[in-house]
Amino acid sequence: YSGKKTMAALTESMMNLKVKDFQSLPVVVSENMTAYDAICQMFLEDVGTLFVVDERSRLQGVLSRKDLLRTSIGTQAITKIPVHIIMTRMPNIVYCHKNDSLVHAAKKLIDRQVDSLPVVEEREDGLEIVGRITKTNITKAFISLAETNDL
Ligand code: ADP
Repeated sequence: YSGKKTMAALTESMMNLKVKDFQSLPVVVSENMTAYDAICQMFLEDVGTLFVVDERSRLQGVLSRKDLLRTSIGTQAITKIPVHIIMTRMPNIVYCHKNDSLVHAAKKLIDRQVDSLPVVEEREDGLEIVGRITKTNITKAFISLAETNDL
């Protein structure tokens, strides 16, 4: 016996990969932060996507690198414009939950052509952000799958 798993076992271990086991910490900013400060925050935190929250810390929007680039090459003053003007906003945000399968989250990334998803929990007054799933997390899971299956 080679120690290699059957295809059925490999499929099972793939479907057992969960968002909560691979998620990263979310980086959130307030809706009133300026585009300029959001760019600084992106460099400081070394992330490609910022999640925008209201004063109750509920998810309101997503801000990507290109959202900020687009604003920077436009005529707007980036030290004045608040991120809520340029972000993608609810209800158009695609998100996932910590108990979702990672394959399901990966499919959302590809179908919606985005780089990251907020991991959320439903609250009475909106969505609380508890994590972040990016293409890097999916790639790490892909490697862990290969390693745990002796591929
Ligand atoms: P970039 O714009 O830097 O290529 P993305 O591909 O992640 O990064 O973002 C593309 C567009 O989709 C941006 O306008 C961004 O605001 C939006 N976006 C990013 N993530 C999400 C998400 N989870 N749900 C909805 N829209 C998103």
